[in-house]
Amino acid sequence: MELIERFLTNNPCYQANLARADSRYVRFQTEGPKGLMLHSVGCAQPKAEVFCRRWDRADYDNGCVHALIDAETGAVWQTLPWSFRGWHCGGKANDTHLGVELCESAAIRYEGGARFTVLDRQSALADCARTYQAAVELFAFLCRRYGLDPRTSICSHKEAGRAGLASGHVDPEHYWSGLGAPYTMDGFRADVAKALAALPPADGPLYRIQVGAFRNRAYAEDFLRQVQTHFPEAFLKTEAM
Ligand SMILES: [Zn+2]
Repeated sequence: MELIERFLTNNPCYQANLARADSRYVRFQTEGPKGLMLHSVGCAQPKAEVFCRRWDRADYDNGCVHALIDAETGAVWQTLPWSFRGWHCGGKANDTHLGVELCESAAIRYEGGARFTVLDRQSALADCARTYQAAVELFAFLCRRYGLDPRTSICSHKEAGRAGLASGHVDPEHYWSGLGAPYTMDGFRADVAKALAALPPADGPLYRIQVGAFRNRAYAEDFLRQVQTHFPEAFLKTEAM
């Protein structure tokens, strides 16, 4: 899996996380994600970098996801630290879920809403397969990292919308079915579970770096904010002593 770190530091969502704007950000940053949501971009733009450029602006308050998967290369462009609360689904699941977008092939043309025409099926299917495979690897990595069960912790935007936890979009299933691609969310969950099982066991020593310890929680949170301006993945851990 090729991972390119390209945090959208100018996006107001990133800034709200830095400022720990309210308790939802604090909770997400403290407890980490409880689930993973799969999206697709809903336009014929295969290049992740185009979205990164468009969204990395102070006046772009339409959304911010954790990663985009490029349809031409399969590379994962990480746009938010995994520990940040994203703005990806327009509902309550933003409080609990990471959001990852599949970029869609340039070999389709949208006709309005979620309907599109396939211009070149072979190349569209190849682009789609590239993002699917990379998403399987990424979701397995994230399940391992956060101790999540792929069978119960992964949903699509469409599924979350049906459950009342997100806006009523239909991605990414509309993209797969519109292409006639052989993918479903149940299949995706099963593929992630398979990839997770195939990951090498996490053994050997773990090297942590501690940069401060406080008795006063407010001091600790204040210091964490300073550390996060350089290392957004930094987090606060409470230990009973
Ligand atoms: Zn979506």
